[in-house]
Amino acid sequence: MEMLKGKVAVVTGGTRGIGFAVVKKFLENGAKVMLFGSRAETVDKALSELRAENSAWKVEGDYPNLNDPAAVEAAINAAKEKFGRLDILVNNAGISDSTKVENYTAELFGKVMDLNVTAIFNAVMPAVKIMREQGNGGVIINTSSMVSICGQPGGVAYPTSKCAVNGLTWSLARELGPSGIRVNAVAPGITKTDMVAALPEQMIQPLINAIPLRRVGEPDDVANAFLFLASDMASYVTGEILSVDGAMRT
Ligand code: NAD
Repeated sequence: MEMLKGKVAVVTGGTRGIGFAVVKKFLENGAKVMLFGSRAETVDKALSELRAENSAWKVEGDYPNLNDPAAVEAAINAAKEKFGRLDILVNNAGISDSTKVENYTAELFGKVMDLNVTAIFNAVMPAVKIMREQGNGGVIINTSSMVSICGQPGGVAYPTSKCAVNGLTWSLARELGPSGIRVNAVAPGITKTDMVAALPEQMIQPLINAIPLRRVGEPDDVANAFLFLASDMASYVTGEILSVDGAMRT
């Protein structure tokens, strides 16, 4: 069953990891997708891979500076022009960090907050404008994190930014509900993206021992949650932070 047949989605941070898995899952389910990345080369690589897998998939790419509101607005408007409408916005681009507090700088704090929080705001503004003009609702899904529930020892800006993602999600859900726009977040635990897959076995095993389901998550586990929230199966779900973390609490 194609759960997103006829829908158009924009996915930020769609070139690799969780975002790439979301893009693929959406395409498999009948959506047309505009993926955003940070550089032309990585966008082209992702598009080549997807088109090689299925030449019928409707997928395009762009690399706006997510911290430039005008650039993001132009890219989201261009996605709407390309595919004729906009139904789903996935705000997934993010950076993590584990710098100890004694080494933290205001610049680093600002850099993490800029991409993980302010960039979401920059994308939400033009997307909501389009969705309201279309008049038949829409879906916004943000990528939060397990650490938004329990914090993390180190990299203080990262859990702080993900708590802000939750606040933004809850607040926008309440404000945009009357327009039929649902706003949710997915909060992944440790997920096997490039960074985690590269860790040596002696670092992975203690992590696995701390996860009740006794494995790290696959990008596909997380993408399935995005698919559910994007689809009409979740038509009465909004303002929800959906944990996909095997119940890990560090
Ligand atoms: P990743 O590093 O593999 O991918 C990050 C994506 O964000 C890439 O597509 C990249 O192009 C984009 N990006 C990075 N910096 C950017 C910038 N300055 N401008 C525009 N785009 C930029 O990461 P991932 O592990 O797939 O993480 C994706 C999301 O999931 C992030 O929000 C992250 O915080 C969250 N998350 C990841 C994990 C995990 O274990 N992997 C756990 C919890 C939450």
